[in-house]
Amino acid sequence: MAPLELRRRDVLKSLGALALGTCRRPPAMPAIGGSIVGGAHARGHRLREAKAATPDSWERASIVIVGAGVAGLSAAWALDRAGAGDFLILELEDAPGGTARSGQGVVTPYPWGAHYVPVPDPANRALIALLDEAGAVAGRDPAGRPVYAEDVLCRDPQERLFVRGEWYEGLYPRVAATTGDLAELAAFEADMRRWADWRDDRGRRAFDLPRARGTDTKEIRALDELSMDRYLRDHGWGSERLRWFVEYGCRDDFGATLSQTSAWAGIHYFAARLGEDSGGADFLTWPEGNGRLVSRMAGRAASRMRAQSTVRRVTPHARGVDVAYHDERENRLRGIRAEHAILALPRFLAGHVVDGAPRPVADVVYGSWMVANLTLRGRPESRGFPLAWDNVLYASPSLGYVVATHQQGRDHGPTVFTYYLPLLDDDPRIARQRLLATSWEAWVAAILADLGPAHGGLAELVETVDVYLWGHAMVRPRPGSLWGDELAAAARPLGRLHFAHTDLSGMALFEEAQYWGVRAAEAILASRGERFDSFLT
Ligand SMILES: Cc1cc2nc3c(=O)[nH]c(=O)nc-3n(C[C@H](O)[C@H](O)[C@H](O)COP(=O)(O)OP(=O)(O)OC[C@H]3O[C@@H](n4cnc5c(N)ncnc54)[C@H](O)[C@@H]3O)c2cc1C
Repeated sequence: MAPLELRRRDVLKSLGALALGTCRRPPAMPAIGGSIVGGAHARGHRLREAKAATPDSWERASIVIVGAGVAGLSAAWALDRAGAGDFLILELEDAPGGTARSGQGVVTPYPWGAHYVPVPDPANRALIALLDEAGAVAGRDPAGRPVYAEDVLCRDPQERLFVRGEWYEGLYPRVAATTGDLAELAAFEADMRRWADWRDDRGRRAFDLPRARGTDTKEIRALDELSMDRYLRDHGWGSERLRWFVEYGCRDDFGATLSQTSAWAGIHYFAARLGEDSGGADFLTWPEGNGRLVSRMAGRAASRMRAQSTVRRVTPHARGVDVAYHDERENRLRGIRAEHAILALPRFLAGHVVDGAPRPVADVVYGSWMVANLTLRGRPESRGFPLAWDNVLYASPSLGYVVATHQQGRDHGPTVFTYYLPLLDDDPRIARQRLLATSWEAWVAAILADLGPAHGGLAELVETVDVYLWGHAMVRPRPGSLWGDELAAAARPLGRLHFAHTDLSGMALFEEAQYWGVRAAEAILASRGERFDSFLT
């Protein structure tokens, strides 16, 4: 049997063919429908053009929120809950949600990006309040902690791994593992448990979600100076299986390799999810992924949402913030004079649109992702452990796929697989060029080449493959990027302009985006002298 790593390289090589445009549709492939459905890269790229254009009309508003991703929607949600409904949201895309948006097909709704949150710590009141609104909380236990509804707790089987020609339960490749491999796994798990139990002298956890609740002590911050690769090596952990398993976590949450990930972030992935008493936290998920939470928040704000509105220029001044945006429907530039504004955009865009923002962006690296939704007439063959919610392939640069019908208990018949591929190049510009230059046909061929060995007859079952290209999908939590002055500076308001985005945490997670949105909303409420129940204090 070939070593695991060699076989993985073979697949990497075949996906590498994408870069050269040499990946061809196999001659026997039946007709498959679909297309590249997003994102709206042309609108985004126009932001680099001159900001000089002057709006042809101006209106007034109390609060303008720029961007309807989870951070912007969370700001709107917090304002609305506090009874401050006097805001407008401007969103570049046709629909809200950002990287947590979802789609709807004939078979089922499905995610286009974010697809789960771990069961939150009871102290995360904002997330629990939103989950409650979204119908995910069925009741409370005698201690007052939320009890989650059966249909949102990820049902079994949750995860499986394809390795050496067969599917196995769980994500660690146990098949043919040596006692040495298993000893390293046990040592790693004990180390993560130690970090999960660690408390500072104020009782704060080392790694929390959102991260703002955790400690800022020097000992923990120092972990950001190492890569996760270095951390494993320093502990003498060289097992190929363990390294794959930990790197899977980094690829999954951060779209990054072991050496591209700060050890602080790599440990966060494992330790922040370990509860007080249990093993790992359960997942909460929906057929459309976190799109369900997006719908709840967007629904509340529907009458105040302006989609297809690309903000071109944001000018903070002593009495408020002027916002100029391109109305894509009417193809004209409009202006809003707001008393307050929240910029809920990725950090790299702040420098393009905000006047006077000395936003340092050189240190911020964004990975690209390709996400595809495959609509299938039926379930493909698979040898070994049965289809799970999350289906991962060892010998693959992709993260495999999640099954959109899983939570609905539909275990037979048509379904949708949501396939995830992070592009891991050290130079993100090269990855973005490849992402945008690759044709739909080449993506389809690459996906089928990747999943084919695990699923006989897959190509015959595929009706459509729709592809979404995320150019600046996620900020990479690089070593040294999580505790620097620049990150803290990026979150500081400019007059009445507040910033909110998951980037401000240095990593892309629902909890982080929600934290920044709620924080910005509460800062505005406080500055207006309003009374409200804070989620954060
Ligand atoms: C493929 C993928 C999978 C993921 N999976 C998970 C997961 O399972 N769980 C999880 O917790 N997190 C996941 N994430 C991370 C996810 O990014 C966060 O959960 C969160 O959704 C980020 O929200 P945000 O509002 O901070 O940013 P964004 O999602 O980046 O939202 C920014 C918004 O601003 C809009 N915008 C941009 N420019 C302009 C402009 N000029 N004018 C107006 N609007 C503009 C954008 O269109 C977008 O809607 C995933 C991310 C990706 C890419």
